[in-house]
Amino acid sequence: MSHVLAAVAWPYANGPRHIGHVSGFGVPSDVFSRYMRMAGHDVLMVSGTDEHGTPIQVQADADGVTPRELADRYNRVIVEDLHGLGLSYDLFTRTTTRNHYAVVQELFEGLHTNGYIVARTTLGAISPSTGRTLPDRYIEGTCPICGYDGARGDQCDNCGNQLDPEQLVNPRSRINGETPKFVETEHFFLDLPAFAEAIGGWLDQRENWRPNVLKFSRNLLDDLQPRAITRDLEWGVPIPLDGWRDRADKRIYVWFDAVIGYLSASIEWARRTGDPEAWRQWWSADAQGKDARGYYFMGKDNIVFHSVIWPALLLGYSGEGDKGGQAGGYGKLNLPTEVVSSEYLTMEGRKFSSSRRVVIYVRDFLERYDADALRYFIAAAGPESNDTDFTWAEFVRRNNDELVAGWGNLVNRSVSMAAKNFGVIPTPGELTAEDQALLAVARAGFDTVGELIGKHRQKAAIGEAMRVVAEANKYLSEQAPWKLKSDEDKPRQGTILHVALQVVSDANTLLTPFLPHSAQKVFALLGGEGVHAPMPRIEEVDDLDGGPSYPVLTGDYTVGTRWESVPLVAGTPLSAPTPVFRKLDPSVVEEELARLGETS
Ligand SMILES: [Zn+2]
Repeated sequence: MSHVLAAVAWPYANGPRHIGHVSGFGVPSDVFSRYMRMAGHDVLMVSGTDEHGTPIQVQADADGVTPRELADRYNRVIVEDLHGLGLSYDLFTRTTTRNHYAVVQELFEGLHTNGYIVARTTLGAISPSTGRTLPDRYIEGTCPICGYDGARGDQCDNCGNQLDPEQLVNPRSRINGETPKFVETEHFFLDLPAFAEAIGGWLDQRENWRPNVLKFSRNLLDDLQPRAITRDLEWGVPIPLDGWRDRADKRIYVWFDAVIGYLSASIEWARRTGDPEAWRQWWSADAQGKDARGYYFMGKDNIVFHSVIWPALLLGYSGEGDKGGQAGGYGKLNLPTEVVSSEYLTMEGRKFSSSRRVVIYVRDFLERYDADALRYFIAAAGPESNDTDFTWAEFVRRNNDELVAGWGNLVNRSVSMAAKNFGVIPTPGELTAEDQALLAVARAGFDTVGELIGKHRQKAAIGEAMRVVAEANKYLSEQAPWKLKSDEDKPRQGTILHVALQVVSDANTLLTPFLPHSAQKVFALLGGEGVHAPMPRIEEVDDLDGGPSYPVLTGDYTVGTRWESVPLVAGTPLSAPTPVFRKLDPSVVEEELARLGETS
């Protein structure tokens, strides 16, 4: 057993999340965390909504509300959506808590004390027509590195490099097309080159990373530049230095504060449990958290923040860059063990885009379909290691052919036959070679499926679990227990059904990290009582340091079935089952495509 941190990307609170977002970070991190808990590890799964930055300021201005009001609205929407998907966060919080501000400022001060944050005069973009600061993301132009014409002022989506707006060739405002004016302004920069060697050494020791993530991260080290960590903006975390603290026009840049959320959320979680130091078991590089492992889940556009920038902040705060220094008040902190990045999900061949309405919001999806149907699609056909297309036809096909006709059918026919003929889980007689072979396949699944999930190969893992299901369906067809009706044949019928139900129970445990809602139902169909797959709950909490209250996702995940085969008890009463999954009418494909057409 060890301490496992599941650090999940922070969704930006400027709108509802679509299924592309949750397929990248949400479902994979939940599958991993659920499995690790079932396998006996002490998991801390944290995240929250990312609520600062210029896009929220700009959108709030457009909507005639304050940035805080806009963030409040979408924080709640996102919390409800993630709850609907059954994502088992120990704490899903937000970046506008006072606790988060204090932790961000602590890291800023620690990095500043150690000399890794330096002041510089730089160029800021102003809109000539309004005189206001023009946010980086609202400037576009040609990327100076790869020549891509749609690069944004903060990042080029084509080559993935971080940019500053004044580096763009032919910069223009995305709001009104005008050419921004660049004026001198003072800002703080993170001395990233001072970490190149330390990060390089750390990357050299990484094991099991997806090769593309490692290669991408190593390439970034070749050309590290000092990076601005403050902005001309009123919405964000104040700069905790004398002469800056009270300036209303300067704030810490949103990316700097958001990555620190992993630590601040862990600290908030510990404070809420009544053991304020408990977070150290996952974070401290000294004895307390030395054996802890940290897994970070995100889409591929966020790799740089997790494989270079966040490690740089942790190293600098711990006094371990080129300039040395001393660890701050939190002590030396652990770097990520693995950065698990997913690729993109596209939608009927097009890139998801809220502005162009090529989108399926999580909320709309969950109104019409079950959460586990989506979770199944994401695990079996999601963008784990390649960009992947979501089509309604494929969604319906997988739901009907695999989930309903494969797994649902196995559950339904085993339980209903046993309920009808015995009313209980029947007592097995002597096992044949076929019986033993099937039971062995199911038991072996615990090693293979578990190992694959541990290596972030969830597509292969769910494939192995479904192979157990297919073997059991084949066994039932071959053994044909429905033909064994005579008194003489009854004991053999009981044995076959006992074996089938035991394999249903095992397969259900193997599928629990992927399909927790239906796993709870199958568990109950087999006569199980209590919690099999624990679920998160939404809790309205007070800010620990006096700010406004807000909703969080949390839960008690210490209960539930473990990652092992649990022998069924003969004689346990069974009732006729209700279907666990819903078959979808093929006409929903056309309905959904029409819906997409209407909104585009
Ligand atoms: Zn580029």
